[in-house]
Amino acid sequence: MKKGLVYIIGAGPGDPGLITVKGLDALRRAGVVLYDRLANESFLKECRPDAELIFVGKMPDRHPVPQEEINRLLVEKGLEGKIVARLKGGDPYIFGRGGEEAEALAEAGVPFEIVPGVTAAIAATAYAGIPATHRDCTSTVAFITGHEDPNKAETAVDWSRIGPAIGTIVIYMGIKHSEKNIQQILDSGRSADTPAALIQQGTLPSQRTVVTTLGGLSQAIRDHAIKPPTLIVIGEVVSMRDKLSWFENRPLFGARVLVTRSRTQASKLVNDLYALGASVTEFHSIKIEPPLDFAPLDAALRNAAEFDHIVFTSVNGVEFFFNRLRDLHLDIRELKGPRIWAIGPATRDELTARGITVEKLPMEFFAKALGEAMGKAVSGHKVLLPRADIAPPVLREDLEAAGAQVTEVTAYRTVLDESMPADAARAIETGEIDYLTFTSSSTVRNFFEKCKGLNLDKLKANARIISIGPVTTDTAREHGLTVHAEAEEFTIPGLVDALVKYHTETL
Ligand code: SAH
Repeated sequence: MKKGLVYIIGAGPGDPGLITVKGLDALRRAGVVLYDRLANESFLKECRPDAELIFVGKMPDRHPVPQEEINRLLVEKGLEGKIVARLKGGDPYIFGRGGEEAEALAEAGVPFEIVPGVTAAIAATAYAGIPATHRDCTSTVAFITGHEDPNKAETAVDWSRIGPAIGTIVIYMGIKHSEKNIQQILDSGRSADTPAALIQQGTLPSQRTVVTTLGGLSQAIRDHAIKPPTLIVIGEVVSMRDKLSWFENRPLFGARVLVTRSRTQASKLVNDLYALGASVTEFHSIKIEPPLDFAPLDAALRNAAEFDHIVFTSVNGVEFFFNRLRDLHLDIRELKGPRIWAIGPATRDELTARGITVEKLPMEFFAKALGEAMGKAVSGHKVLLPRADIAPPVLREDLEAAGAQVTEVTAYRTVLDESMPADAARAIETGEIDYLTFTSSSTVRNFFEKCKGLNLDKLKANARIISIGPVTTDTAREHGLTVHAEAEEFTIPGLVDALVKYHTETL
């Protein structure tokens, strides 16, 4: 029988951008994925839709899957001929028990490959502004576990030698036995004044860094209620942080933002906010679905050449229109006749990417303004509007008032997304959200519909509301919300700019 291949992949310590190209490639190809909690959950989106996903990590309320069971599963799936990705936090061979997994595979004759990862000691320190070595102060660095195999009779860590000899000491799993280990380093003669840092949840938006001294570490762990996953870093390099901190200085670092956009469209907004340092919670209030009845859209597509103008008002409208054109085995050349208009730069770009040149309009145009701008030109013209089922009537009314003959067809529907992710619901009820973003009137309406069973008091008291433009702002106000900032340009980048401006000015 054909043997499979097991990739033991280091996923990095948290920031999903820190997986290697090779690791991501293997993950995308795998038929079976074994993952634990230290590896960022967002990697699961990268897996094949038909991949078997097996969680083998620790959950607070469940016994951990024993290592022998993980080894057994890897061997079993490998022998079945599968491509298996074993995703591990940081690097698989640094305090990750990857060595034991590889041994089990080697013994069973299952082919395997190791894809190294960025280990926490390298990544979390760098993100905290601490170079692991620096020619001015440190030529040696050691990665040490503060928590050895509990069955081991004697410690293999000789603190009395490490303490004075190693420039930068990085301790993994060090919180539980911190007092004893720190005391041994002090006893070894290392000065109590040596700079030291605690880096909790390094490389994640929730990263927290506490700077202290070797002598002050135990007190700092208690005072700041430090919990795993945390690294303890001891050495002169810690003092470089004053100059080299960057991750925690980004404009939205520490800000907790709720995104209400549809799942399919949220990614740009989520990525932009994340890159600026925000902690983003997704709570999709709308879903984009095909029309219930395709007949009007189909008729318009078949007769596209008869229109003088086609006006697209959203990226979704463009996508559904052209996908349907393809599904009907029609051809893009049917659109040779009509002039094509777009509202907003994202809609324009979506058309341009399909090889269609759009009529020139000022960037800030939105539905009402476009109607007015086209007004003079459209008297007696046939205008096609492929739109959402719930699109507001103003554009159609303006065009008709100007004497146009308007055909409005539903290209897609905006419906309530009823999924209720537990983490988002909890953050809403506890008010642990600093910013609530709305990207359309329907995200506002459906947000309230979706939250019917939730208590919004704390959210309303704590969260600031950021809106994409005046129409959305009006809808938010109708729902009793105070809007704290509105985008100047009615686009996703405009919304992000408004949020950053508000956050930096009010901090
Ligand atoms: N194989 C992993 C380490 C697993 S041991 C690696 O190479 O990084 C688990 C310990 O790693 C935690 O107790 C903590 O000390 C450290 N660690 C892992 N991820 C971390 C993170 N994001 N921030 C700080 N420490 C982390």
